[in-house]
Amino acid sequence: MRDISLKDAVTGKVDTISVETAVICGECYGLGTSPDSIVERCPHCRGDGTNGEKNCKTCTGFGTLIENPCPGCVGDGRVVLRRSIAVTIPAGISTGMRIRLSEQGETGPGGGPAGDVYLEINELPDNRFERRGVDLHCTTAISAEIARTGGTIDLDTFDGVKKIRISGGVKSGKTVRVAGLGFPRLRASGEVDGRGDLMITVDVRER
Ligand SMILES: [Zn+2]
Ligand SMILES: [Zn+2]
Repeated sequence: MRDISLKDAVTGKVDTISVETAVICGECYGLGTSPDSIVERCPHCRGDGTNGEKNCKTCTGFGTLIENPCPGCVGDGRVVLRRSIAVTIPAGISTGMRIRLSEQGETGPGGGPAGDVYLEINELPDNRFERRGVDLHCTTAISAEIARTGGTIDLDTFDGVKKIRISGGVKSGKTVRVAGLGFPRLRASGEVDGRGDLMITVDVRER
């Protein structure tokens, strides 16, 4: 589970995550043996490492039995390591979506291929903006004068400070739509198909 801000969901970012995985032991290069160890072929699977479809229980898939296991990995051939990896969080991602990190997972027993790691996204609430589908909603205070005569206000958005046009005669609770400042529409293919809108509810301050 990865917490991201609403801004990250709008703009995307490169994040660094820490993963704890079993990787090939650097002392024995995955063999699981001490350099001076005698290695015997596993009598149970005759060195094949498999028992039907499954890994052989006696040798756990190595096909060999080890008299002196490697002290670095106690014969497993793997050690647990904490690593940092860079992850691209794409713009338009939302809660419940998963990012697949290919071959960043566990090394299989006996040096088998590494599995994939999935990162599930969780959006954190924002104190100014709220997500509604691909649209962003917020409330902003405007002066009574702007509300009466109309004008332009500066609004700090996830795309930077934007000039927002307010038409004259606006009342509290009225919503101004700004096209294209919402969340990118992220397709399953990974492509972005336009963006949602920013909906600004005005709050007229009499004084
Ligand atoms: Zn075996
Ligand atoms: Zn080892």
